[in-house]
Amino acid sequence: MTHRASDIQTILQMFSYMRPSGSAAETAFVERYLTPLGFQRDEFKNLYLQIGASPSILWSSHMDTVHSVSGTQTLSLKDGILSLSRKSKKGASSCLGADDTAGVWLMTEMVKAGIEGLYVIHHAEERGCIGSSNLVQHNSKFVAGIQAAIAFDRRGYDSVITHQSWGRTASDAFANSLAAILGGDYKPDDTGTYTDTNEYAGIIPECTNISVGYYDQHTRRETQNVEFLLDLRDTLLAADWSQLVIERDPQSDPYEDAGWDSVDYGYSSRTRGYSSSTSLSSKGLTVEYLVKQYPDIVADILEGQGWDAEHLHAEIGAYYGGHFDDDQNERNAA
Ligand SMILES: [Zn+2]
Repeated sequence: MTHRASDIQTILQMFSYMRPSGSAAETAFVERYLTPLGFQRDEFKNLYLQIGASPSILWSSHMDTVHSVSGTQTLSLKDGILSLSRKSKKGASSCLGADDTAGVWLMTEMVKAGIEGLYVIHHAEERGCIGSSNLVQHNSKFVAGIQAAIAFDRRGYDSVITHQSWGRTASDAFANSLAAILGGDYKPDDTGTYTDTNEYAGIIPECTNISVGYYDQHTRRETQNVEFLLDLRDTLLAADWSQLVIERDPQSDPYEDAGWDSVDYGYSSRTRGYSSSTSLSSKGLTVEYLVKQYPDIVADILEGQGWDAEHLHAEIGAYYGGHFDDDQNERNAA
């Protein structure tokens, strides 16, 4: 068996686990793949492992998937694209879970290769970044000396995220230097939603998230480009991380180029949740404005709450009295 063929076997096995946060399948996955590598749990249920005496990069992914049930699922691999098997019945599995099994797999590969870093596989990202937000709030010295937090938790093939949750979390200089290291189509992308590295943005200079080759996360149509993932692994193992440019001041105003001036979000240490919706709307911020300005983030929020395209389509159709015509709508939009 070639090297890649055995990698693909491992990927197929790891991706078969449906791991809602705190589930039995999650525990089994940890015991099978992470404990043997030396990962330990912190008091917030994050899994961590340090390689090197004083690493400057925190590698980030998350343990949980958005599956509604714990267990294993049947997969299909066709032309290098991994998806749920057609045989997997509706209700048996709600998504592929490449978000974020892809990121976890990459980190296990980097650990096996001895790449220096502070590795954190976060607890309950899909429930609102619980593990990372607890770590930052209660044990921020854990990341002392870390200059960059790099998450493997972004759809597509080309993003090096510079903005999350409306604010800047990484400098363009950093994003360009990381894109140069990664090669391919990678480039700075300011349309990030949020993942665990957003929680660190007030204490770590450069916080980003990079594409790992999945699409349509949180849905049954979710796919993972396995060839892309294998190539990315090879790149990560061969990279010269001393080429990263560190420029951002973590204390700087994250909203400097968010598009409006000094709106008070009532944020404390970048955690989500605002003081009150009235204070936002009194400043001209409406739901419609936010939907138009941040369609990507709103879609993620809706999906996180269980909405999928099918149900949203039906709900929108109801507004048209059941005479919803997508073609008509596209013509209007064009
Ligand atoms: Zn994710």
